Amino acid sequence: LIVPDFSEFTESIEKIYEIVKEVKDGENASYIPQLAEVDSNLFSIAACTVDGQQCDIGDSDTYFCVQSCSKAISYCIAVEEHGIDYVHKHVGKEPSGASFNKNFLNPDNLPHNPMINSGAIMIAALISPDLEMYKRYEYVKRYWSSLAAGARVGFQNATYLSEKDTASRNFCLGHMMMDAKAFPEDTDLDNILDFYFQLCSLEVTSKDMAIIAASLANGGVCPMTNQRIFKEDTVNHCLSLMHSCGMYDYSGEWAYSVGIPAKSGVGGCVFLVVPKVMGICIFSPRLDSRGNSVRGIEASKLLLKEYTMHRYDNL
Ligand code: GLN
Repeated sequence: LIVPDFSEFTESIEKIYEIVKEVKDGENASYIPQLAEVDSNLFSIAACTVDGQQCDIGDSDTYFCVQSCSKAISYCIAVEEHGIDYVHKHVGKEPSGASFNKNFLNPDNLPHNPMINSGAIMIAALISPDLEMYKRYEYVKRYWSSLAAGARVGFQNATYLSEKDTASRNFCLGHMMMDAKAFPEDTDLDNILDFYFQLCSLEVTSKDMAIIAASLANGGVCPMTNQRIFKEDTVNHCLSLMHSCGMYDYSGEWAYSVGIPAKSGVGGCVFLVVPKVMGICIFSPRLDSRGNSVRGIEASKLLLKEYTMHRYDNL
């Protein structure tokens, strides 16, 4: 067993949950009503080890909108399909040091990395470009479901419609990249932005997101079904970018204090990957000024302190 005393681990998750539950700082994302109106008190922590032990506490069966957590999975799909040389002709690998939707490109006129909006819009353009849009959507959704051991992956249509209606910045980023000729030829920008909003509007539960994170921790093989979904190399590249860029403009601070790859989304999810050990999902909708879940960060810090999982804890 990878975590021999799993009941002790479960107990410390429960302890951390009770402590962090008292934290009431931050606010739900407010740019669309579908996120603003989610119950701010929802809170869950779920974990799944690479050998399939699971624990969860709180609202772990509640579906939440994945938002930017989709960026990590979309990147893996694009890399599986094209390899890194092609993918990184269209998107960089550097943290941007700015907010997730800042309207700028890197010095090569490309998005800085796949974990921010510009980069994820670019990645959407790279995923199965020859298929019809509905097939591209289904293709990605199938990946999500396989990563989550066949779980139901939902879609928030109202969220999607609102995203589309309030997306001036994302349209701006798309047009900047069009103008810079950063997209592959024949890219239909309206379709791609639509696709990007759809991928942000997928919904999963914390329990399922922990399994997805565990599939990454397990080198691309879902621990519950033993199905290989991504190559090890693909996951390696994704985790490297999650480590340096996964928490927006808190990524450097996160790498310093928590020290493992993670990805956040404005729906309130933070998922963490402890390579070869486990995946963890924390969900709580109240965000800090950068768009990261406040409790997500608090709980991660406590957990990592207790379990010395920081990359450089064992020097
Ligand atoms: N849908 C959001 C956007 O495109 C996703 C942002 C996020 O989760 N940080 O702005």
